[in-house]
Amino acid sequence: MDLRLTPAEAAFRDRLRSWLDATLPTLPPKPDRDDWPARRAYDTAWQRLLFDAGYAGVDWPSGHGGLGASPTEQLIFLEETAKARAPYVGANFVGLLHAGPTLIVEGTEEQRAAHLKGILRGDEVWCQGFSEPDAGSDLASLRTVAVREGEEYVINGRKVWTSHAEVADYCELLVRTDPDAPRHKGITWLILPMDAPGVTVRPLRTAVGSSEFSELILDDVRVPVANRVGAENDGWRVAMVTFSFERGTAFISDVVESRNLLAETVATARATPAPGGGTLWDDGALRRDVGVLAAEVSGLWSLIRKNVSEASAGMIPVQGASVFKLKFTENRQRIGDLAAHVLGRASLAMSGPGGHVVEDRVNTLAFTIAAGTSQIQKNILAERVLGLPKEPRWT
Ligand SMILES: Cc1cc2nc3c(=O)[nH]c(=O)nc-3n(C[C@H](O)[C@H](O)[C@H](O)COP(=O)(O)OP(=O)(O)OC[C@H]3O[C@@H](n4cnc5c(N)ncnc54)[C@H](O)[C@@H]3O)c2cc1C
Repeated sequence: MDLRLTPAEAAFRDRLRSWLDATLPTLPPKPDRDDWPARRAYDTAWQRLLFDAGYAGVDWPSGHGGLGASPTEQLIFLEETAKARAPYVGANFVGLLHAGPTLIVEGTEEQRAAHLKGILRGDEVWCQGFSEPDAGSDLASLRTVAVREGEEYVINGRKVWTSHAEVADYCELLVRTDPDAPRHKGITWLILPMDAPGVTVRPLRTAVGSSEFSELILDDVRVPVANRVGAENDGWRVAMVTFSFERGTAFISDVVESRNLLAETVATARATPAPGGGTLWDDGALRRDVGVLAAEVSGLWSLIRKNVSEASAGMIPVQGASVFKLKFTENRQRIGDLAAHVLGRASLAMSGPGGHVVEDRVNTLAFTIAAGTSQIQKNILAERVLGLPKEPRWT
């Protein structure tokens, strides 16, 4: 992919910059991280602004309400919005970055008509109900059951770590529909309306004190068979499509955020006096660490270009997705460690000028777990990409 901008792409970037310059100062302050209704309102209002300005779903095909932008335009969009520190997708993450794309690839016409526009306009917020208390890495051991009764599934079970469940309208839900089939074969992907009777959401607290995710209790919840995405018992394959979006292209803005954080760390090091005179930036070891991390960020950006390019050509970026998830999350943790080192004592408190860096660092601990742990990404790469022998099964 050639990243030199064509006149049309340069014009796209200029238009976007002008729009961001005019729009961002008009936004209200960001709500408190624990005020979920306010956070939903803020995130969906931003999404609506993007929609009205013609910037919603930049990477979605135009036939499905998106912009159908070229890979370069998508990158321009993500880079410019992240550079301008525009709001992040926030509560719209699941809908925009993987439920919507999954419906585009696997959904029925009715499902697309029912949901895609709502996701793009910010009217619909989605969450992901895959993990269970005993089914995280070993997702195929999930036990939430759905029994078909006529034109409905009746669902019973428990999900955990469901991000944004408190404010979601719909959930991409994995259920077991054939308990007798081999583990990967009896699973189905369903659209669960979160207001269905029998759905209980219990917020959980994270290390930074927010209730980013919840536990879901599903007690005789009835969902129409029309809400099934893909065939019955074919949900494992559909979930892999969802994962490839989640791991491959969904973290793009975060890479720009990594760049921002690294640049901020350098600026802090230049401005902080060193104990023996000069500034922290005079330390060669620190500069070497910054150089290594910056080189890795550049490599990740190239991989993102490849993933975006594949996704927009209708391909599913499986290999690049796992490599990216693994390397990006580890790189971000090391940037967080370096930023904390430069902050010194200030890195012990979440209040104060370095508070956002401290919060980011604590959050990055979750990055290597969420959406599949690093160990699992290594297994995927070893077994599915490199063709190495499968890990021994002990049970
Ligand atoms: C911030 C955050 C948000 C999340 N949001 C959601 C969400 O919205 N929806 C959702 O469904 N889930 C969500 N999750 C759950 C996430 O997908 C799981 O936490 C993750 O898959 C790991 O599962 P687990 O927590 O059960 O850990 P376990 O699977 O119990 O793993 C524990 C440890 O053992 C290691 N391990 C396990 N099996 C192997 C193996 N075969 N080989 C080598 N090592 C292994 C793991 O890597 C890990 O280090 C979220 C998690 C986090 C942290």
